[in-house]
Amino acid sequence: MRALAITTDGEAVHPGVIELPEPRPSGTDLVVDGLLLGVCGTDRSLMTAGTDRFPDGGNRLVLGHESLGRVRHAPPGSRYSIGDLVVPVVRRPDPVPCAACAAGDLDLCENGRFIERGIRAGHGYGAEQYLLDENFAIPVGSLGLLGILIEPASIVAKAWERLDPLVRRPGGRALILGAGPIGLLAALLGRNRGYDVHIVDRVSHGPKVSQSRALGATYHRGSDELEGRFDAVVECSGAFTSSVLDFMAPGAATCYIAHEHAPDTRAAALTAATLSESLMRGNRAVVGVTSSSRSHFDTAQRELEQAPGEWLRGLITDVVPLERFEDAFGSGPDTIKAVITLTDELGDELYERR
Ligand SMILES: [Zn+2]
Repeated sequence: MRALAITTDGEAVHPGVIELPEPRPSGTDLVVDGLLLGVCGTDRSLMTAGTDRFPDGGNRLVLGHESLGRVRHAPPGSRYSIGDLVVPVVRRPDPVPCAACAAGDLDLCENGRFIERGIRAGHGYGAEQYLLDENFAIPVGSLGLLGILIEPASIVAKAWERLDPLVRRPGGRALILGAGPIGLLAALLGRNRGYDVHIVDRVSHGPKVSQSRALGATYHRGSDELEGRFDAVVECSGAFTSSVLDFMAPGAATCYIAHEHAPDTRAAALTAATLSESLMRGNRAVVGVTSSSRSHFDTAQRELEQAPGEWLRGLITDVVPLERFEDAFGSGPDTIKAVITLTDELGDELYERR
């Protein structure tokens, strides 16, 4: 069977489609046919990854952490049946495990030795078949193939889970910085909470703008267009690290999902003194999140079911077959979410509305 992997010759890392033997299940393993694989910035960064991420000291890593698959084999007594669509959780507990991993809070691992399938120390889901412990499988419900969005949505579900108790005026004005997949999903969850949602990105037209407006949000090209302040801010762009305080109303809360990679050159670097004074005098809060755990996947699944299927489908701008995987790793202004199809059998199914 085919898989998408990065392989190292000891120096450089090369992506490519490789042949692997079909996996053999044991215990609570499901055998899953990979159908769709989502691509994000993490995958793009792995193309230049260090080999310390490769499992078992080997020379390759099967890529892919955003997956949607179909159960091919389920163990006796499984809660899953052949043909069920599932989405896998990415993290696994560290082998020790630490107190957080032992309690199931895999996203809060304390010793940093966690496994992330497709990212570090564990092979990913970018294969025609893979094994999945059924305890780490999420049912997609009515989402069908759009369940491919559950993994990225799990990150924003965690962000809003943090923000909800911190925001003084829930359901007020929300500002989403960045209109990529994470930003637009953060906007969806803000809308689900009744916020008046505003979205900022750099583009002036295209799917990011149309998806923002289709959600009922106000799209702004650049932050100069913004008026007033916001009760909840989600920074998904990495461009507003130092300026989030400028957007926050008294009693507001901000969640960082991205960190600085494209600094806003107009903003002076945020100092600890400025931050602490603003937080204290304004009764504001700032939090950050990375990764997600099973509970966030479950929440994401429910949140996505509240969105029109047509809107969710609109987030998937690029659909390419495995043999053209490189096309999914480019990212232009009109790309929101790129997905790779791992089977020919989908046909036009992905284009059908719910
Ligand atoms: Zn741990």
